[in-house]
Amino acid sequence: MNDRARRSEPLPLLSVVVPIHNEEACISAFHQRTKTILDGMPVRYEIVYVNDGSRDRSMERLQAIRAESQNVAVIDLSRNFGKEIALSAGLDHAAGDAVVIIDADLQDPPELIPDLFARWQDGFDNVYAQRLSRSGETAMKRATAHAFYRIINRISEQSIPLDTGDYRLLSRRALTALQTLRERHRFMKGLYAWVGFDGVAVPYHREPRIAGRSTWNYWKLWNLSLEGITSFSTLPLRIVSYIGFIVSLLALFYGFYIVVRTIAYGNPVAGYPSLLAFILFLGGVQLLSLGIIGEYLGRIFNETKGRPLYIVASHLPSRQDRDARVGDMERV
Ligand code: UDP
Ligand code: MG
Repeated sequence: MNDRARRSEPLPLLSVVVPIHNEEACISAFHQRTKTILDGMPVRYEIVYVNDGSRDRSMERLQAIRAESQNVAVIDLSRNFGKEIALSAGLDHAAGDAVVIIDADLQDPPELIPDLFARWQDGFDNVYAQRLSRSGETAMKRATAHAFYRIINRISEQSIPLDTGDYRLLSRRALTALQTLRERHRFMKGLYAWVGFDGVAVPYHREPRIAGRSTWNYWKLWNLSLEGITSFSTLPLRIVSYIGFIVSLLALFYGFYIVVRTIAYGNPVAGYPSLLAFILFLGGVQLLSLGIIGEYLGRIFNETKGRPLYIVASHLPSRQDRDARVGDMERV
């Protein structure tokens, strides 16, 4: 008998948050595997599925699963908001003392949850699963991901653990802190790092997707990188100022040189090609700088609108969630 049982404390409540976007082929297998793991753990649990505007039969599958199990909550968003926001919706509706975030495609093996949980019991607030390998992904994707994590770490003000994704466990206090960050441009990996607290890595091997297709492509990855960089660093703006400064300095020296040369040798009216080259170069630098400023400006624009992060079409809570709320009422 463990300590808790002896003191007749209730078991901790573990919430597992799963974003779902067109995963009809994965949901049943995911649910079975995850349920088996959770049933074997010394916890009460709920699985919070967030249907992020799926256009296939994912929602029907989720409703069927919930009809069978009391431990399942389903949040149906009004449209597709993207994974980061779907996750946030799930986290907002999770009742647990600790929360696990996991993908539905079984790339993150649920068998790791007991290990994450054990580290939480050791007292860690942010237990992140760290990939030792990624199978089923192209060499190109692995290389770009590798480069991305290293660049973002160099330039962002918080250090973001290498080779970690969203798969992790958060304590209640880390989650509460995370919920205070309501920015629309959500680079989650950065937000977990920003929140702080004690983090620890649990290594694992990333598996290939069991079915369906990843919705990621290089354009999305590029945008994610931009999001990461602009949300966590103003370095690009600073680089632009330095480029401007250096270019002006060079122009000044060149101006002096022209004056001196004209005085010494007269003016033979040459230099048309170099003139054109300079104008084009400067034009390019200016447009690039405007583009970079624009990236930041656009984000400021979006944030100032102050819209809610997501709209919930329907929320079917789990039994654990309802119990927790009733408990709150009784305490009042
Ligand atoms: N996902 C989501 N909304 C989206 C795209 C994806 O909720 O707009 C979910 C998806 O169902 C899965 C997880 O996010 O559970 C990871 O998606 P995916 O496997 O496509 O990403 P990858 O593993 O390739 O990074
Ligand atoms: Mg995946």
